[in-house]
Amino acid sequence: KYSLHHDQYLKNYLSTEVKNIIGIGREVQGKRKNGDVFPIDLAVSKIVVGGKVLLSGIIRDITENKQAQERIQKLAFKDTLTELPNRQLLLDRVGHAIENSKRYQYSTALIFIDLDDFKIINDSAGHMTGDRVLIEVANRLQTRLRHSDTLARIGGDEFVVLLEKVDQTIVLHTMERLLQSLSDSIMIDEQKYFISASIGTASYPQDGKDVATLFSNADTAMYTAKNAGKNRYSFFVAQMNEEVTRKHKIIQNLQSAIEKGSFTLVFQPQVSLEDNTVIGAEALIRWTDEELGFVSPAEFIPVAESSGLIVPITMWVIKTACLAIKTIRNQESEFKIAINISSLQIKEKKFVEIIHQTVIDSDISPRQIELEITEGALIDNIEDTIKKIQLLKSYGYRIAIDDFGTGYSSLSYVKQLGFEKLKIDQTFVRNLPNDENDIGLTKSIIAMGKALGMKIIAEGAETKESVAFLKENGCDMVQGYYFSQPLSLEDFLQFFAEFNDT
Ligand code: C2E
Ligand code: MG
Ligand code: MG
Repeated sequence: KYSLHHDQYLKNYLSTEVKNIIGIGREVQGKRKNGDVFPIDLAVSKIVVGGKVLLSGIIRDITENKQAQERIQKLAFKDTLTELPNRQLLLDRVGHAIENSKRYQYSTALIFIDLDDFKIINDSAGHMTGDRVLIEVANRLQTRLRHSDTLARIGGDEFVVLLEKVDQTIVLHTMERLLQSLSDSIMIDEQKYFISASIGTASYPQDGKDVATLFSNADTAMYTAKNAGKNRYSFFVAQMNEEVTRKHKIIQNLQSAIEKGSFTLVFQPQVSLEDNTVIGAEALIRWTDEELGFVSPAEFIPVAESSGLIVPITMWVIKTACLAIKTIRNQESEFKIAINISSLQIKEKKFVEIIHQTVIDSDISPRQIELEITEGALIDNIEDTIKKIQLLKSYGYRIAIDDFGTGYSSLSYVKQLGFEKLKIDQTFVRNLPNDENDIGLTKSIIAMGKALGMKIIAEGAETKESVAFLKENGCDMVQGYYFSQPLSLEDFLQFFAEFNDT
């Protein structure tokens, strides 16, 4: 019925091993008539009949046994409901991640996610519905992560994320995104379920140097979040509790700042290296609160994003920038103002309409506005982002990719999106021309950007040497303290006039 695949193996087997052994089973490969290879179990016995030695073999097809084995293997590492890695596999991966972090000296974070009051859904709607909610939760969490991150389910309503090679900002953003992914209700059989989670994190090496400590500290942080009122996150460090309070304060005070319009906008010149002229400016928001004092946009913009306050703030920025353009336009018609767009805001349904309406109402041509979008914005929901960016481009807006080099955007997306301008992140520019790594990175980003037809601007150039290096290597524009800090409109106008004069 079967022809044996490994003829040579069989011959050797029969001539040597079987000589003195009777009835042993060995796994070899067989070949079916149609050519498929399959595993067989081969047992050979020696029979002596009338002085003659005969060999008798039994061949057994063990395809099904093998498949069952594989299934068991998989079950041992996968959570059967969500198909996510289970605790076993997670522990294994965390172990490896810690080893790698030690060897290559990077930071690795564990994020514990515990659903709030999940028991109520289970008790009131039944376990079947509870299971479907869990599957949806798993899917939503997964879409907010990078491919290299591990999402595991380690208990009824407990999930854990393993993030390798991250800093605390990425961890914070990831937690914001995980929380946000649950903010829309889950629809099952035309019934809405509202889910939130308490999230806690601990990182190697600062919060723990072994698997057990990291697990326990991430768990503690998660409980801190739960105790502080659920639907929030907490870092393991005790002082993070203070930050939660501060965040609440910021949200409160931002609200009244929006009502009163108590922000200011400053403008940082962008200089063309080709002819040494100011060709534009980036608009940067400033906020000094009566109670909190000066709060950096790097701190309050993310808070505004997660609380939805970013929409009115952006509208204020655009209106104010348009007014500034009117003042500057008398002097320079090609002048552009760059406005930062928060990555979370792009997801808003009416994102394009809101921006465009504000610009039109201000009686400004979209051509004088450049929208800076960070790389981070491109990771998820790429189709939707492409559509919106193309619509903006069709209206005449210029689009720049901000903080390039810090995210994970693939080159093909960057190309598809047709950005006009690429902004090299300041972390690469800061140490030019002394840091070998940064030299290499900057050169290749410039080459790549040019190959894709983009103009290149470097951000954060502080020294004469770095500007010279950038110019030599084909960078088109520079924005940084070397030329100027961000300036009030009045100071900017003066700088502009003097700079382009000399
Ligand atoms: P960004 O868009 O990458 O802005 C550049 C930041 O680098 C600004 O910080 C700027 O002051 C700073 N910078 C520029 N040149 C140099 C330099 O030579 N050396 C150093 N050390 N720093 C330099 P800023 O104004 O604090 O803004 C931080 C971030 O906050 C911005 O990063 C942007 O992501 C966000 N942001 C600021 N204004 C707005 C806004 O109106 N809307 C939104 N959505 N985000 C904003
Ligand atoms: Mg920017
Ligand atoms: Mg930037």
